[in-house]
Amino acid sequence: MALPQTYRKVMVTTLTTNFRKAIEFQTCQIPKLSANSVLVRNRYVGINASDVNFTAGKYTPGAALPLEIGFEAVGEIVAAGDKCKELIGTAVAHMSGGAFCEYQKLQSSRIFRIPEPKPEYLPLLVSGITAKLALEMKAQLKEGETVLVTAAAGGTGQFAVQLAKLAGCRVIGTCSTDKKVEFLKSIGCDRAINTSKEDLKLVLKDEFSKGVDVIYESIGGQTFDTCVNAMKLGGRLIVIGYISGYQDGTISSTSGRAAAALPIKLLMKSASVNGFFLMHYPQKWKSTFDELVEIHSKGEAKSFVDNGMNRTEGKLEGIESIPDAVDYMYSRKSIGKVFVDMFPDLTAKL
Ligand code: NAP
Repeated sequence: MALPQTYRKVMVTTLTTNFRKAIEFQTCQIPKLSANSVLVRNRYVGINASDVNFTAGKYTPGAALPLEIGFEAVGEIVAAGDKCKELIGTAVAHMSGGAFCEYQKLQSSRIFRIPEPKPEYLPLLVSGITAKLALEMKAQLKEGETVLVTAAAGGTGQFAVQLAKLAGCRVIGTCSTDKKVEFLKSIGCDRAINTSKEDLKLVLKDEFSKGVDVIYESIGGQTFDTCVNAMKLGGRLIVIGYISGYQDGTISSTSGRAAAALPIKLLMKSASVNGFFLMHYPQKWKSTFDELVEIHSKGEAKSFVDNGMNRTEGKLEGIESIPDAVDYMYSRKSIGKVFVDMFPDLTAKL
């Protein structure tokens, strides 16, 4: 296979949560490979809410600029070092920093083999692994329990919903459009709440007055407060994120909101609030990904991707559309995992 001499990648050159202002596109030489390294053509890259935290430097405090960015990709191995030549042509997924690039040199030990280089495998990486590990390690789900998932129609929310259903739970999901309500019902949500029309606090009070056992919470701010108050005796709340404060920085580790009353609330309910951060469990990524691929291949949980389907400007294609993809995610119109097709000409040939 003929390789180009150069490729393009996204680099963070200014630290800010404004993704577009933070990054530049650079053209680089295709790197030389060492014996155990491979060159992956990143066909599809996943967009994550935390991409704007990364551009603000929150993942790499004190690191010198420029920074490579992007958490995950699906593609194929197009060249390999002397000790792993047999890998050429293998379809792979990976979670390696700097994935917002057309070609990426990786150690062969960093790749996860997949049956085909299809975008459906992307959501099984950061989004799916987070949902599976967080629920397994922090939620201790029991059959028949009630689980509330916020931002339920998104990249990670879709898996929290489906995995909780697989565990025999009753699932409530929040979202902000009627289209997402229909989506949530289609993936098994027993109650989908459109928070742009219904008051989450009132719905929980009226329809779930005994409280909720487990909460997979991604939004933060007022939503976090509402969730804390909705916990049942023995309830478990897992803090997955606080997206409502990412772009404008309104939520910080020093802001006192909700935290002041938390000890009393937890004590009075023998409840717990846990944090979960995927970056703390790299040793579990590969095995959890393989388990998700199996669950997906059996049809027990589906993997939904969004290449800009609710975007008037059309599909997210080519590396230049990565900033548009971040904006699209923050527009709250996306359903499932937002991704960019880096080589639309190759996809069209399929
Ligand atoms: P996503 O859910 O695909 O997209 C973000 C969604 O958040 C939006 O579609 C929107 O859905 C909802 N949202 C609610 N309030 C929002 C606001 N003020 N601004 C923008 N969006 C808002 O994104 P994702 O990448 O899967 O991330 C979801 C959450 O999971 C984030 O908090 C992220 O940091 C977290 N996460 C954490 C980990 C970890 O290791 N802890 C790993 C992956 C993701 P509605 O409008 O329908 O509510």
